[in-house]
Amino acid sequence: MAQQTDGKSGRQLRMETRERNPLWKNPPLMIDMDICINCDACFRACPRQFGAIFNHDIDVIIIPELCSGCDKCIDPCPVDCIHPDPDWQPSPEAWWNEPGTNDPYT
Ligand code: SF4
Ligand code: SF4
Repeated sequence: MAQQTDGKSGRQLRMETRERNPLWKNPPLMIDMDICINCDACFRACPRQFGAIFNHDIDVIIIPELCSGCDKCIDPCPVDCIHPDPDWQPSPEAWWNEPGTNDPYT
């Protein structure tokens, strides 16, 4: 269940704080762009309450701070290029422009 604080969804809070939910046990996932064919199947599979996958220039990206590691995007990927990323690093500033300017999950 999403966190609720002052009427904001957990996802909104994660976007503001740029922090993952500390209760999430699974690592976020990452996309190997050398293999990805930009089919958008993963984007359609990502639950709206997480909303972690975006088009960014010619890449498809997963913002790790928004990714719960629920794994729902793995099976739909036709080329098996989505993997757990236990050593994830904070998203670069430019990635936050995607949910910040044109959020496809709202
Ligand atoms: S693991 Fe879940 S939350 Fe993360 S990108 Fe895939 S579908 Fe979205
Ligand atoms: S489902 Fe796989 S191939 Fe398709 S856009 Fe997502 S990561 Fe790329």
